[in-house]
Amino acid sequence: MVTRLTTREETTMHDHRRLGRELRLFDTDPLIGAGLPYWLPDGAVVRHALEEYVRDAERRAGYQHVYSPVLGKRELYEISGHWSHYREDMFPPMDLGGEQVVLRPSLCPHHAVIYRSRAHSHRELPLRIAELGGMYRAELSGVLGGLTRVRAIQLNDAHVFCTPDQVAEEARAALAMIVRAYEVLGIRPARYRLSLPGPGGKYVAAPEMWRRAAAMLTEVLDRSGLDYERAEGEAAFYGPKIDVQIADGAGREATLSTVQVDFHQPAQFDLHYTGPDGARHRPVMIHRSVIGSVERAVAHLIELHGGAFPSWLAPTQVVVLPISDSELPQADDLARRCTEDGLRARVAGPEQGSLGARIRAARLVPYQAVIGAREAEVENVALRLRDGRRLDALPVVEAVRRINALVTSRRAELWEQAAPG
Ligand SMILES: [Zn+2]
Repeated sequence: MVTRLTTREETTMHDHRRLGRELRLFDTDPLIGAGLPYWLPDGAVVRHALEEYVRDAERRAGYQHVYSPVLGKRELYEISGHWSHYREDMFPPMDLGGEQVVLRPSLCPHHAVIYRSRAHSHRELPLRIAELGGMYRAELSGVLGGLTRVRAIQLNDAHVFCTPDQVAEEARAALAMIVRAYEVLGIRPARYRLSLPGPGGKYVAAPEMWRRAAAMLTEVLDRSGLDYERAEGEAAFYGPKIDVQIADGAGREATLSTVQVDFHQPAQFDLHYTGPDGARHRPVMIHRSVIGSVERAVAHLIELHGGAFPSWLAPTQVVVLPISDSELPQADDLARRCTEDGLRARVAGPEQGSLGARIRAARLVPYQAVIGAREAEVENVALRLRDGRRLDALPVVEAVRRINALVTSRRAELWEQAAPG
């Protein structure tokens, strides 16, 4: 269940647009344009940490990363079906030397072409291609705002090319990856949804293909033990999908993550692999996204944590607070040690106000390292945790080591009493 906030104040308090501006994470400028936010250094840190988590999880799950351009010729999208089924969401094509190029509305066609760039044996499948790549959506200016309704999107995308026999296992593994990521990020899904086609012409016409793909996803969901709902009219134009829905403080739902089974684009791009029988076979394409778009994921994390990110995502992880100017050298030394160890640390000295005022100003920073005359003399530090806990003074070396162990393992806890490692 998702916590539903009741009062207008609480809803406003957790608005990612307000927090994003207050915490200097991102902003927009009319000169750049509506729906085209830019990321400030602290927001870029959060985004980078999140992207690294995803890439790391994908590498461990056997994905290979690629880069592909955010533009493509119009023909690419005519073949994929986007041009006929998705054009109203695309930017208009640009004329360029006798041909037309468009900003891409998805990464799938590029990945299909990458798959097609060489021959494949059944022994190489499943082949998992991943990219955190840009894509564009021609949203109307009236609905744009914050990081949730944007025209430029960074998508955590991947396509698994596999045999029909491998679909169920690959879709199951993708769903498990999503569930794991949500645990690490502290996200609770509002619900799981099996998104099926509805009436109308926005879906490719191939009843047998839809039936097979829907049956495969139904089996994956049934076996997962997760509760889910079926929703007609929510499928992609090329196939049904499992959507993981999240809700904001006001209860508004959005799709964050997805697993889709697609028989359409492999046929459109004439993809094949050589089977054990030596003959050509058609692979199936599974589209999957663990955290969806980086923009929507970060917006949700800002609202979910009220800016108090898990320590591994926090823009500043350690703030060093010398009680007086006399401890500045020790404070600088501790910040330098943290930085050299890969932690994000800064010093907030007495010129920024009383100790109490500096602690309040750093209330979102997971670790506040106080150094007074007593600590400075014996190279100790008195740690305060963001949740208000105050720890006994520790040797500086040990404090850095323990914080680093918690941060690099992406633990939700801020501290554990037994020293890790
Ligand atoms: Zn795709």
